[in-house]
Amino acid sequence: METNDELKHLQLENKKLRREVKRLEKNTELLRIANEQAARTQAYIRKDSMRQAFYNDQLLKTSPYLLMLTNAELTTVMTSDVFFAYTDAFTKEMIERGVPLRDAMAAILAGDDLEKLLQKCEEAVQGMDVEPYLLRTFIDGEKTDWHITIKRMIDNNVNVGINILFVDMTEIVDAMERAEEADRAKSNFLANMSHEIRTPMNAISGMTEFILRDSSDEVAKRHATMIKSASKTLLAIINDILDFSKIESGKMELIEDTYQMASLINDVAVMTEIRLAKKPVKLKSEIDPDIPNLLIGDEVRLKQILINLLGNAVKFTNHGEITLKMGSEKVDDSQCRITVAVSDTGIGIRESDLGSIFSSFTQVDTKRNRSVEGTGLGLAISQRLIRMMGGTIQVESVYGKGTTFSFDILSRVESWERVGKIEERIHNVTETAFQVNFSAPDARILVVDDNEMNLDVVEGILAPYDIKIVRALSGAESMVKFSQQEFDIIFMDHMMPVMDGVEAMKKIRKMPGGKETAIIALTANALSGAAMEYKALGFQDFLAKPIEPQDMDRILRRYLPEEIIQPVDETALSSSKSAPETVVGMPAVASTEVAIDIEKGLKYCMGNKKFYRKMLKAFAQNEKIRDLETLFGAKDWDNYRIAVHSVKGNALTIGAVSISEHAKALEFAVKEDRIPYIEENHAAFLVEYRTIVEALRGGFYQDE
Ligand code: ADP
Repeated sequence: METNDELKHLQLENKKLRREVKRLEKNTELLRIANEQAARTQAYIRKDSMRQAFYNDQLLKTSPYLLMLTNAELTTVMTSDVFFAYTDAFTKEMIERGVPLRDAMAAILAGDDLEKLLQKCEEAVQGMDVEPYLLRTFIDGEKTDWHITIKRMIDNNVNVGINILFVDMTEIVDAMERAEEADRAKSNFLANMSHEIRTPMNAISGMTEFILRDSSDEVAKRHATMIKSASKTLLAIINDILDFSKIESGKMELIEDTYQMASLINDVAVMTEIRLAKKPVKLKSEIDPDIPNLLIGDEVRLKQILINLLGNAVKFTNHGEITLKMGSEKVDDSQCRITVAVSDTGIGIRESDLGSIFSSFTQVDTKRNRSVEGTGLGLAISQRLIRMMGGTIQVESVYGKGTTFSFDILSRVESWERVGKIEERIHNVTETAFQVNFSAPDARILVVDDNEMNLDVVEGILAPYDIKIVRALSGAESMVKFSQQEFDIIFMDHMMPVMDGVEAMKKIRKMPGGKETAIIALTANALSGAAMEYKALGFQDFLAKPIEPQDMDRILRRYLPEEIIQPVDETALSSSKSAPETVVGMPAVASTEVAIDIEKGLKYCMGNKKFYRKMLKAFAQNEKIRDLETLFGAKDWDNYRIAVHSVKGNALTIGAVSISEHAKALEFAVKEDRIPYIEENHAAFLVEYRTIVEALRGGFYQDE
């Protein structure tokens, strides 16, 4: 029984052992497989990292960019081969073994450039972001423009170093500079040429004017008329090109000053009506009376935009009407947005052309518009000017039906006084005399001018205001008068012999009370920008001669102390001082041989016939014929210039436009040192001048 049990036990043990052997055998196989797998993986990794190293190596060898890697101590670890094109002080092995970055970079950069780079590398290592930058270096006299990028390298949140990338931008920068230079040269050329062309153009139009005036040959006159019209067109084109090149080269600046919106609207409307005279097209204006009248901005440029849009409307409309619509919105206490729309019932613009009409030198539909003049610059210039004024321009058009251009600009407001009902005024510009609606009997004004007639003019314009006026005939006299009493305003002529207006103004400024007194320059050289110039010289403001009553009114309102201004009852007014005067009853001096534009003259005298007569008389009595002859004989050009300058102003005041123009031409000839011109034209000018003076003397102003 015992042996039987023992056998059973042994059999069981045996079975267990066999199972164990089998398990071990299985494990060994598993291990073998695992081993094999590991070996294969290792081989793969070895191969892969060799491949990676190969690629890295290739990258560094073939990269056109200079790449430098360092560790966190700013010691080199690697570079692209381009580096060795700049130096043979190092080998690849040296860089990989580690060279201080300062030493390595000294191969490319020196002085401040090197210090700046190292500084930025330090910053990058410390974890700061470094902006890429451009650097120009001269290596062995050769210029290189680098674009440099410095980046920190991070591994597991630890700074392991930086990489620096130098990209050679020399060619691109050179090309860019060449393009900019060419563009500048082009703009300069255009600006210079336009200027150069303008000078001879002046001579052409001036001479044509003389032919028209002096020639009795009808054919010559007809040709001269054509020359005149062609030179006008040419001048307009030149002005466009000049403006455009100025805008393109960034030289266009807006010249801001106070202006009256009502007078601007009036001017453009009148001009448009003149252009429309020969067409069966009507101009309609819808002007919101709430538009503020006194604005601060570039009046000349705004006018240019309006004239361009209205001019296009006139050009492209053969029947129907043109509408000028204007409005405004208050932006804040000192600014408003002016909105303008110019619509026409003209030929319209094809939809496919609408996109390109604001591009420069673009004229669309050229087949149909062949006979229409233009440069294709007008809209491009307008659009850019509008942008400079803080607005945009849009166009809507139906081909064959008509077009609407609308734009807006942001404008500063000098006063919120409204333009009022302007439409009525537009159509009878010449008839309405300016109405004075306040008086200032306590105001004191000093008027300084070497020319008595100018003093009369200022006095005449100031008469309805009841102001006390003191006259001075020279700068020196003005100083004496100023030392004797206080004045609210001094009107100071600019051009005076011995001491001119600027000098006198400066001297008065230094006298007690001189700083506080408003000194206004009187000038016949009222180009745009004049206000700024006079203000820069030290005047508070300026008034252009011939003085417009509205401008005088504006100056008085602005510079007289408020407490001495007394409003005048308007009903009382219309029955007395400013009763509309008619031209009827004026003797016909405006015959062909004596060219005086009575309407114009009367306008400068506020429609006051009596005052106008006085001015005509003063013109004849203060004639400068003798003086001019003596000065011409003595070749005393400085004083000759002053003399013709005053004839220019006086003649315009009485409406003797042609005399005024010729005096102006002579004045400019002295200014530009063109003595032969004076020698040629002096005699003819005196004949014309004398004719008028004699006609006036012989005549009508005595029969008051
Ligand atoms: P241009 O000096 O030649 O008139 P613009 O830039 O002022 O140049 O105008 C460009 C073109 O746009 C014009 O030549 C014309 O083809 C088109 N255009 C402008 N205004 C109008 C309009 N009111 N009606 C029809 N076409 C117009």
